[in-house]
Amino acid sequence: MYTTISFYFIAVLSSDSSEEEEQCLQEDTEQEKEIVEQENDFEDDIEEDEILRAKDNKHIYIRKVLKNNNLEGSSQPNKKLDRVYNQKHCCFLCKKMVLHLPSHFKSKHHMVPEIKEALMKTGKRRFDELRVKGDHMNNEQVLKEGKGELIISRRPKEFRVTDFGPCSICFEWMKIDYLHKHHKRAHSETSVSDSTKLQSKKVIQLNSDREVGRVNIEKQSNVVNQVLEIMTRDEVKVVAQGDELICALGESWMRRNFGNKKAKYYASQHMRLMAKFLMNLRELDCPSLGNEVQAQSLWDFLVPSKYDLVVAAAVQLAYPYMDDVDDLRSPSNAIKIKYDILKVINEKWARIQIRGNPDPEEAHKCDTFLRLMNIK
Ligand SMILES: [Zn+2]
Ligand SMILES: [Zn+2]
Repeated sequence: MYTTISFYFIAVLSSDSSEEEEQCLQEDTEQEKEIVEQENDFEDDIEEDEILRAKDNKHIYIRKVLKNNNLEGSSQPNKKLDRVYNQKHCCFLCKKMVLHLPSHFKSKHHMVPEIKEALMKTGKRRFDELRVKGDHMNNEQVLKEGKGELIISRRPKEFRVTDFGPCSICFEWMKIDYLHKHHKRAHSETSVSDSTKLQSKKVIQLNSDREVGRVNIEKQSNVVNQVLEIMTRDEVKVVAQGDELICALGESWMRRNFGNKKAKYYASQHMRLMAKFLMNLRELDCPSLGNEVQAQSLWDFLVPSKYDLVVAAAVQLAYPYMDDVDDLRSPSNAIKIKYDILKVINEKWARIQIRGNPDPEEAHKCDTFLRLMNIK
C-alpha cells in the first residue's frame, strides 16, 4: 500500500490538485497507463489507519492526510512536499474512485463531449468543475446511505459529518463554517447573480443544508425559511431544521404572530426548545450511542408506548439543574414545553388525517397520547 503511495508521490508532487493535474498530463502515455492500471488494482483497498471516521457517524470517513516518510531528515522541511497526495476523486461518468482524474478521463472517457472540451482547454482549473461534479455526486450518495468516504477539501484532524456541506454555487464540499468566506473569495465577482453578494453567512449555510436535504420543510412554506435564516447554525439548529414537526411548530408560531416583526425570533426560540427536547429524547432512548447521529424524529416519539420517555425528556429540559431550588419555583419553561408538545402532537394528528391514506391505528395512538398529555 505505502509503496504504491510513494509511487504516486514521485509521479505527482504538487501543491494542489490542479497543479497535480497539470503535471499529470505531461507524463508520457506509458506512465499514464501504469497509473490507471495501478488504480484499478487497489480500488476499495483502504486500511483503517489511513482513514478518519466521523464523530457523529462511524460509518462515514475521510482519507487522512498522510505525511511522506522518505523526506524525513531532509535539510529543508517543506510542508507541501511532505504531503502524500492520496485523495481520490469520484469520476462522474463511471463512479469509480480514482487518484488522478485527468489521466483517467483521458484514457477512459476521452470520447465524451464534456471531457473532450476540457481536454482542449488550457489552464490549471480546467478539470475542476468535472472533479467537483463527481465528488458532489459521491458525497450525496454517502449522506443518503449513511456510509462511505466523504470527499472534502481541507481535510481536518477530526470531524463531524453535519459540519460539512457543498457550496450551493460550485458544489465544492467544505466546512460549513467556512462557506461564507469561500463565497467571498470565489463567487463575489463571478457572473453569478448579484443577489449572492447580499447573502448573509446564515443564508449561505442554509442553502448548503438545503442542497443535501438537511432541511425538512415543504417548498411552499417560506415562513419557516424566514426563521431558519436568522438562526445560528449549531447542533440544535441542525436538529430543528431537519425535523418535520419542529418546522411545523415554527410555522404555527409565525402564523400566530403574523405581522409582528419579532415573530421569527419567537418561532426560533420555540423551535430550538423542541429541538433540545428531541435531542434529550434520543439520548434517553439510546444512551449508548453517545455522539453518534440518531435519526428518529419527533414524530416517532409521540406514541403512547414512549410516553414515559417524553415526560422524562420534558422534565430534563424544564429543570436542567434539579439541585437549583429557584428553577423548581419557576415552572415557565415547563409550561412552554408542555404547550409546544401539545401543538406538535395536534399537528401530527392533522397530518395523519390529511394524508391520502390515513392510518386509523396511527391516528388512534395519536389521540391516546393527547389524552395522556391532558391528564398528567
Ligand atoms: Zn470514469
Ligand atoms: Zn463555491
